[in-house]
Amino acid sequence: MIPFNKPFITGDEGRYFSDVLSSGKISGDGDFTKKCQNFFEDTYGFKKVLLTTSCTDALEMAAILIDIGPDDEVIMPSYTFVSTANAFLLRGAKIIFVDSNELNPNINADNIGSAITNKTKAIVVVHYAGIACDMRPIMQVADKNNLFVIEDAAQAIDSYYKDTPLGGIGHLAAFSFHESKNIISGEGGMLVINDQRFIHRAEIIREKGTNRSAFFRGDVQKYEWVDIGSSFLPAEIISSFLWAQLQKIGMIQSRRKEIWNIYRERLSRLQEEVKIILPFVPEYATNNAHMFYFVCRSQMERSKLIDFLKNHGVMAVFHYLSLHKSPFAGKMYDNTRLLNSDRYSNCLIRLPLYFELRDEEVIRITDLILEFYRSEKRE
Ligand SMILES: *Cc1c(COP(=O)(O)O)cnc(C)c1O
Repeated sequence: MIPFNKPFITGDEGRYFSDVLSSGKISGDGDFTKKCQNFFEDTYGFKKVLLTTSCTDALEMAAILIDIGPDDEVIMPSYTFVSTANAFLLRGAKIIFVDSNELNPNINADNIGSAITNKTKAIVVVHYAGIACDMRPIMQVADKNNLFVIEDAAQAIDSYYKDTPLGGIGHLAAFSFHESKNIISGEGGMLVINDQRFIHRAEIIREKGTNRSAFFRGDVQKYEWVDIGSSFLPAEIISSFLWAQLQKIGMIQSRRKEIWNIYRERLSRLQEEVKIILPFVPEYATNNAHMFYFVCRSQMERSKLIDFLKNHGVMAVFHYLSLHKSPFAGKMYDNTRLLNSDRYSNCLIRLPLYFELRDEEVIRITDLILEFYRSEKRE
């Protein structure tokens, strides 16, 4: 059986665990947390990075930092993970869903303007599959309307919009190190702060609303309750795991890209022949090989293909279901029509992609898909 995902362990994690254990400091914000944060600041030029326990937590911090409240509206794609919406709903905001692009699941930048009202406070973009949203027009419309931009960059590590790393463009950005992502720590995430104004308060919110970080730096005499907050920092064990992964980021990324390119090359003729839609990487975007997906012609075809692959020992899976149609959204969005989002919900399929997937296995998977579409055409 070829699983959909297999978390890659570099082999150095255990050694760094031992370092943590013998250091006597196992709670958060120790040496490994600082090393990881510095790595991201140095490698990608992010102004400030704070590790968190998840991307979900980083998004929740972002919602608190921009003071989202019950009178605010937040614009985001409907085709995304629940955390993108939950973080803002928890602050009482109203979520305004916008459709995806025709050619890829990212938010359609042209549709954002008409979703803005005098209550809009923020735009949340999701770089689906690690492929950049069209950030220039999005930042322009945000500037013009005085809105915050938050990047849900959960899938977007080591990927770029033109020359700028994703996560370095909006006011704030959230990344994930969940085991399903490229670089992992089991559960884990980080908040990137690109707007200087948020740095001080972010440290406080992350430390239960106290100025503990400033206290340990020696900036204040005692640490006190100064704001709202929660416990968003990971233990050193988690950070040490992440550190082991970061040592191998080049190797991990290049192997994932090799696998992605084999998929792309071997499936490319299906785009012409049967009109499935392969991943579209716009000229302004890079590909970080987070995911290999394509869009089937119908939901029925996708179900048949998933079953066919499963019967041949390959686990392929579908992905998000439009949030505006979720049981939780209920009847609230009955008048919302987001046709591309629904098409991705019904027709998008993801193929196995993980570091240890071998070339022969990728070839076997693509052969099966080609065989499936040969028999589809005959029917
Ligand atoms: C994985 C993911 C998340 C959640 O990440 P966690 O670290 O599990 O909280 C949020 N948004 C998107 C787009 C994701 O892919």
